[in-house]
Amino acid sequence: MNFFIKTFGCQMNVNDSEKIRHILREKGFSAVDNEADADIVIINSCAVREKPQAKIFSYAGRIPKGKIIIAAGCVAQAEKENILKKNPDIHYIVGTHGYHKIGSIIEEIGKEKKRGVEAGFSKQWQELTPYVEFRESPVSGYISIMEGCDNFCSYCIVPFTRGREKYRPFADIVREAEYLSAAGYREIVLLGQNVNNWRDERKNMKFSDLLDYLAGNTAVRWIRFITSYPGYYDGELIAVMAKHEKIARHIHFPVQSGSTRILKKMNRVYSRTRYLQIIKDFKKKIPAIKFSSDFIVGYPGETEPDFRLTLSLIGKVEYTSIFSFMYSPRKFTRAYKMQDDIPLDVKKERLHRLQDLQKTIQLRNNKKLIGSEIEALVTGPHPKKSGEVIGRTESYQVVNFVSGAAPGEIKRVSIKNVGPYSLRGEEL
Ligand code: SF4
Repeated sequence: MNFFIKTFGCQMNVNDSEKIRHILREKGFSAVDNEADADIVIINSCAVREKPQAKIFSYAGRIPKGKIIIAAGCVAQAEKENILKKNPDIHYIVGTHGYHKIGSIIEEIGKEKKRGVEAGFSKQWQELTPYVEFRESPVSGYISIMEGCDNFCSYCIVPFTRGREKYRPFADIVREAEYLSAAGYREIVLLGQNVNNWRDERKNMKFSDLLDYLAGNTAVRWIRFITSYPGYYDGELIAVMAKHEKIARHIHFPVQSGSTRILKKMNRVYSRTRYLQIIKDFKKKIPAIKFSSDFIVGYPGETEPDFRLTLSLIGKVEYTSIFSFMYSPRKFTRAYKMQDDIPLDVKKERLHRLQDLQKTIQLRNNKKLIGSEIEALVTGPHPKKSGEVIGRTESYQVVNFVSGAAPGEIKRVSIKNVGPYSLRGEEL
């Protein structure tokens, strides 16, 4: 039988799809490139942003009739049988901890097209190293090092879709990193909801030890990691990054708000002062370090002075890029019970002000790069400009340049021109 996986959402979901592909191939199924050629369609869904169910249903509605349809991933985990009730075309729900059972689930669905739900949480890490040929990215080798979250930020659904934190054993991470490095990947990305809380208790190791080992023992050019939770920060991360230039000088370090009052309401455990102190410490020890972040505007109870504190924090940190969203309630979360009291027009206005400020900062800082020489990891051909490629810099900025380089190659580029969101260079 043939299968096709449609992935929505974050890198974690992309990596899960790679694992599902691996499992199904091991069971004798064949991967195909589109829904039409598939006997089984797996929809791997993301629940973090809005209208996730609607997205699944609209996609499921476009799948040709007669196929087995499985809803997997975060939405499936959170909504369980609700999805089956609302959509008769979907046969089975497979939550985020049920992927290893997906082969036997397909057998169970069988010719009778039985319906069911597999959405329990497992306490153990489920070990899987996807084949290289089933990796979605030829550029970045993604390695899951932990899954789940114990933090229960008031607005976030992740603890309900991924369960409590589980850490992958050190030896398994190292094996996958060596395998990707041997396969020619120039960049590996360590993945998890709270990577900086990773640990291997049997080996008495924590995240900085893992980075130290990987940086000293793999042949890749850059090691990245997403996402880091500021509440788990410890000073050893700075020390290990300062020690190894292979660890990219860029951290995605989501703050969400610049107001300590709102951070408390969000159940984030750090204050504005603490966050800014960490940033200051990083910049002092590693002057080239750059940050990106996530922001929520219009969180319940956010006043204009709270919002201005967010703007002023953005001004102080000078992020290279940010993701910013208007607050919207998510079922199951604590904030869902709070009054969503900031009017939509105020949320929109704040979002515009925040994005305008960030755009100004990005343009100003990007202009300082004109004339400099940087490395760029080629991510692929430019979709609109023939002969051009798109690359990413160490600080994860987009750089466009004329080149015949293949995805995954690293090139040296001289920066000639910039905009707020991208750089333009010339290959050296
Ligand atoms: S740290 Fe907070 S925002 Fe991040 S996954 Fe956990 S609950 Fe969600």
